[in-house]
Amino acid sequence: DVCVLGSLNMDLVINVDKIPAVGETILANGFMKFPGGKGANQAVAAARLGSRVIMLGCVGKDDNGDILLNNLNRDDIDTSFIKRIDSAPTGIALITVDGAGNNTISVYPGANMKVDLDYIDNAKGFIESSKIVVAQFETPIEATKRAFRIAKKFGKKTILNPAPAKKIDEELIKLSDIIVPNETETEIITGILPESEDSIKEAGKILIEKGAEHVIITLGSKGAAIMDRINFDIVPAYKVNAVDTTAAGDSFIGAISYYLSKEQRIDFETLKSAVKFSNKVSAIAVTRKGAQSSLPYLKEVIEVFGE
Ligand code: ADP
Repeated sequence: DVCVLGSLNMDLVINVDKIPAVGETILANGFMKFPGGKGANQAVAAARLGSRVIMLGCVGKDDNGDILLNNLNRDDIDTSFIKRIDSAPTGIALITVDGAGNNTISVYPGANMKVDLDYIDNAKGFIESSKIVVAQFETPIEATKRAFRIAKKFGKKTILNPAPAKKIDEELIKLSDIIVPNETETEIITGILPESEDSIKEAGKILIEKGAEHVIITLGSKGAAIMDRINFDIVPAYKVNAVDTTAAGDSFIGAISYYLSKEQRIDFETLKSAVKFSNKVSAIAVTRKGAQSSLPYLKEVIEVFGE
């Protein structure tokens, strides 16, 4: 149902009392490895809700690569086309967290940058057999464009999560049926920080003028705004006791992908229901610690919110 093209990273998390200054060495008091990467997180989010998910991407021929693939397999994600790269290690994110929860993060993309046009061309069959193709900005943009072009040719829907934030070219926006940025990403792409209803509308309008058919701007604890050429609405978030918003965005993208893969067509009303559902999924994710560990199964969403 859902084809996720994107990153697979190993998150290396070091816990310290205080984040070291330049030139300083300190002893940490904890270390853990967690499977991550926006692409993989979104794939897991959609799979736990019930989608059949195909993941496209690259990892190295190393232990981290083995661990990441096994991890996706545990959620029944099809990893058969994930490429093992000789010339680069599996991507890693080096995360240092202090006692107050502040962090610094350095990402080495490694194998993720080896997703190329040939790889995408060879993955045509996987794109053809999906309903939704999702991508982010942690793998090369030219490959994403190629994948979206193939998806459009087969009549598939494309969802672009422009994260981490960077300016994007209009060609990619035009190839995206739905673009789903958060507040920071919206500001970087449009130059407008979406804080008030007016500024949200204004930013959304810029994305639509650049060629996006549907825009969903996620607004953290405020929920998400939906827009097309004619309509606008804000679907409020659920009030929960948020303890860790890591992967809030990834849970939302996974949920939107799952929901829309079951729909025949995408109109404003469908998008509204999709966003309402995704707000539920993300509300659960922010009440739990971690990235993939916080992503709920459909059963849990129904237990909390009903059918
Ligand atoms: P990102 O993680 O990319 O910054 P957001 O912070 O916009 O994304 O969050 C994505 C979605 O997660 C929101 O649209 C909302 O549904 C949900 N969410 C985020 N923070 C909260 C919160 N504090 N309470 C309830 N829902 C939240």
